[in-house]
Amino acid sequence: MAFASVVLDIPTRALEGAYDYAVPSELEGEVAVGATVLVDFARRPSVGYVVRVADAPSEGVDPTRIRPVRSVLAAPAFDGPSAELALWMAREYACPPSACVRLFLPPGLDHRLRKGDEGAWELSSRDLGAPDRRWVRLTDAAESFEPAANATRQRRLIEALGRGPVRYSELRAMLADVSQPLTSLAAKGVVEVFEASMDVIEPEGTTLASAAAPAPERLTRGQGRALAAVARAFARGDGSVVLVDGVTGSGKTEVYLEAIEAGLALGKGAIVLVPEISLTPQTVGRFRSRFPGKVAVLHSRLTPAERRQQWELIREGSAQVVVGARSALFSPLPDLGLVVIDEEHEFTYKQEQAPRYHARDVAARLVAQRGATLVLGSATPSLESLERCRAGRWRGAPWERVAMPERPGAGALPEVRIVDLRGRRTQGGMVFTPELASALKEAFERGEKSIVLLNRRGFATFLMCQDCGCVPECPHCSSSLTYHARSRELMCHSCGRIWPVEAYPSPTARCPHCGSRYLQAMGVGTERVEAELASLLSDAPIIRMDADTTRGEGGHQRILERFDATPAAVLVGTQMIAKGLDFPEVTLVGVVNADTSLKLPDFRAAERTYDLLEQVAGRAGRGERPGRVIIQSHWATHPAIASIASHDRDAFVATELEEREEALYPPFARLANVICTGRDERRAMAVMGEVANRLRARAAGKGWQVVGPSACLRSRVKDRFRHHVIVKAPAEASLGPALLEATHGLGGADVSIAIDIDPYDLL
Ligand code: ADP
Ligand code: ZN
Ligand code: ZN
Repeated sequence: MAFASVVLDIPTRALEGAYDYAVPSELEGEVAVGATVLVDFARRPSVGYVVRVADAPSEGVDPTRIRPVRSVLAAPAFDGPSAELALWMAREYACPPSACVRLFLPPGLDHRLRKGDEGAWELSSRDLGAPDRRWVRLTDAAESFEPAANATRQRRLIEALGRGPVRYSELRAMLADVSQPLTSLAAKGVVEVFEASMDVIEPEGTTLASAAAPAPERLTRGQGRALAAVARAFARGDGSVVLVDGVTGSGKTEVYLEAIEAGLALGKGAIVLVPEISLTPQTVGRFRSRFPGKVAVLHSRLTPAERRQQWELIREGSAQVVVGARSALFSPLPDLGLVVIDEEHEFTYKQEQAPRYHARDVAARLVAQRGATLVLGSATPSLESLERCRAGRWRGAPWERVAMPERPGAGALPEVRIVDLRGRRTQGGMVFTPELASALKEAFERGEKSIVLLNRRGFATFLMCQDCGCVPECPHCSSSLTYHARSRELMCHSCGRIWPVEAYPSPTARCPHCGSRYLQAMGVGTERVEAELASLLSDAPIIRMDADTTRGEGGHQRILERFDATPAAVLVGTQMIAKGLDFPEVTLVGVVNADTSLKLPDFRAAERTYDLLEQVAGRAGRGERPGRVIIQSHWATHPAIASIASHDRDAFVATELEEREEALYPPFARLANVICTGRDERRAMAVMGEVANRLRARAAGKGWQVVGPSACLRSRVKDRFRHHVIVKAPAEASLGPALLEATHGLGGADVSIAIDIDPYDLL
């Protein structure tokens, strides 16, 4: 008799990984790993996923007490190694096994049961509708077509199609407002919309000859070294990791393409993860033009029907190259040889809801399991990856770093100047030092573009009562309200609630504490920078990009397009402006205050600051003209800032690693953050206290530190109080099982517990 281990589709951490059920003889063969089955659990019918089939039940399980599988609800969707990976994730990250298994299921499934016509239970099927089969391509007329100067969206669309036909659904997901420019271009005969059949991964299409992307004739020395390292890893087939450490433009993508090509020649497919913001038609087009008819795209904004279609094409082996955001890692590629993670340092690879996994670390496990190779690429690699490469090994697999310092197109590094703000009177809340102000003027007068970064939106950071010092806070969260001058509103950046200034706290705008009418705006936000720029450069087109101006679909893209199309424009914004497209004409980058992110109580604050400054500095001088970077800071000597000016990353990395080692932080330790939230603060504290006690009892003798419980920095969000405990353990510790035990049976309807292992958000 056969026995199946089944993960129940119940979203609770407390459940064991899988339960054993007997396979009745009439279902033998049908009950296989990856199948969805109907079983009884706690006397109720329940949906489950088969993760193992064996001749005997698991150890310690009494065969006579095992119940049978009732029926098979859906055919297998994943294989044994995927099942194993899902269970590993559940243990590693202390999250519900069903949430991990679901990552491997076809997109758009409904996991609920319903009674069918015959009275038998079946999966209720959601009608996904038909996937959109329309494709868009340029016609021959595009070769000689010149869009009007102000028709930026048309120009963008033509660029997006330059490397070949693009699925309509992808254009819609990745670009802003496609339908209108598409209609006008179609009317002019420049583009053409057509339908492809369901089962073709890519139709034939025209590509502008000028935009085809052939492999370069000769690789740079760095590219040669990187590819040799990948080839050695391929040959070993031991889950090796190669970190390609190269500045933007050094040819990392070219390395990925060649490595994928080598894998395809051996019959092995590849998964390429890029941050969603870089998942543009151009990126996808570069892969499609290199591997025509083989590329599937998974983007979170595609409809479920479209994602399902891509998933099926991957599973049946039609698509051997998958390009997508974080969750594309779980796509059912039959013969995986290579996983590529571009911009591996990006925090978006950490999922912030359960299952709270890190795609880089799961990918390392995945390639080890499948004998594949992981290639990581970045201009500012994470300290985790750098340290693992220095050690040469992590979790049993070899890690190797290959530096690619040269850019094939040359291009000098920008000149970086740090302006020390200490001792300077910030009278009237001065935003620009004379140095930055005159550089902005000069760039504008020369007709060049500038970028100004301030990582804080709003006009002022807060309003402060001049009499008693009181700062209005959100009544539902523990954050002070940010003042937005244009709309005369106070906004809570934690829950999004808004009060007109006049109505807060009372219709007469008095201090809630002492009644004074003297409320003054303090601190500086992007809106304020925008206003000061307007008076500094009276005729300059100023474009602001932050969470307030990019609301709505494609908002981000829309603003970048406007900046691209406006001569001598100044782009002001938060960290959003550091990412995204390349603008060759930007010659000046100004950072209003580099310290905003440096002072956060987060051990990664310096790393985040360094990454942000390096990225934004890299926006200057991409084109012919040299670039300048001016960074204002009160902390000019801090290694995260000083090393930007000296172009000496090693200096920053060395001091930062030293500090992390001393203070026991990753990559030299492993952290977990357990957070309790509830409306009743005392209940949340009590639960957290119990978790801390249990953890302390377990930690004794293991070299673990248990810090807290204490209120989180964001101690209240949306009327829920937040308390947490942080566990620091040796780097190789496994934290999942201990944390599951420490939280077992606690929490409930009124207090919820979140376990975040290897957290990135500690606030
Ligand atoms: P990255 O991904 O590091 O930003 P890319 O791979 O996009 O770099 O390369 C930047 C530019 O240099 C691209 O236009 C690419 O076609 C070109 N390029 C890459 N490798 C070479 C090479 N070996 N010789 C000439 N040009 C190259
Ligand atoms: Zn007051
Ligand atoms: Zn709030």
